[in-house]
Amino acid sequence: MERSIRVQGLVLHHYNYGEADRFVRLLTAERGKISALARGVRRMNSRKAGHLEPFTLASVQLSKTHSSVWVIDQVSTIESFPGILGTLERAALAAYVTELTDRFALEEMENRALFSLAVETIRRIAVIEDPFPTLRYFDLRLLDLAGFRPDFQHCVICRSVVQPTNQFFSASLGGIVCPACQRHEAACRPISVRTLKFLRYYQKSSFKEAAAAGWPQDIRTEGENILTDYLAFILERKINSQEFLENIRKQR
Ligand SMILES: [Zn+2]
Repeated sequence: MERSIRVQGLVLHHYNYGEADRFVRLLTAERGKISALARGVRRMNSRKAGHLEPFTLASVQLSKTHSSVWVIDQVSTIESFPGILGTLERAALAAYVTELTDRFALEEMENRALFSLAVETIRRIAVIEDPFPTLRYFDLRLLDLAGFRPDFQHCVICRSVVQPTNQFFSASLGGIVCPACQRHEAACRPISVRTLKFLRYYQKSSFKEAAAAGWPQDIRTEGENILTDYLAFILERKINSQEFLENIRKQR
């Protein structure tokens, strides 16, 4: 059995452990999500600490103890994103990305597409002027990769092709409910035809195409609520960073 490995990892989260240690959750390119113990990182003179802050992409040397715990032996930064810590909103958006990635990623199961999506999204949040399209693109790709692609093309009840009019969306059924079926399905919410158009376009587009299309201000809340409510439904819990984001926006 291997005892020591080197991986590329995006720091998703960390929490304190014992007197000076910390557990760090990494999303790695090579083997999915890994939790590893960073010994002594809370001491003033720790040389590892700066490389293990959330949203850092790091090269990490890990070894496994006899009790099957990964321990971080060496770490160096590959890429950090100072733009993220520049504003509270960007930090909250990056926390939204790492929280959702953390929830959907599987322990020690390689998923390079998810790794790329998370790193690219963090990189974009750090520099892009208007991060809204980046976040919605992330939501839709994450749903694809997790196997929860919402159906915006056919009514999830009668399977008829969705017409270009206002519709309904059901989180529990994972897609559009047409106006005829909506009468029998209480647990769904209205979705305007304009929002539906953007969701469909983003779902089939590259990031470049989606970013070029943008997202009109007046239907941002609707689009965001449809996606984040669906994500929260799948996860069976609220998205903490989403609540934090809403609080920041209220204070403006
Ligand atoms: Zn229907």
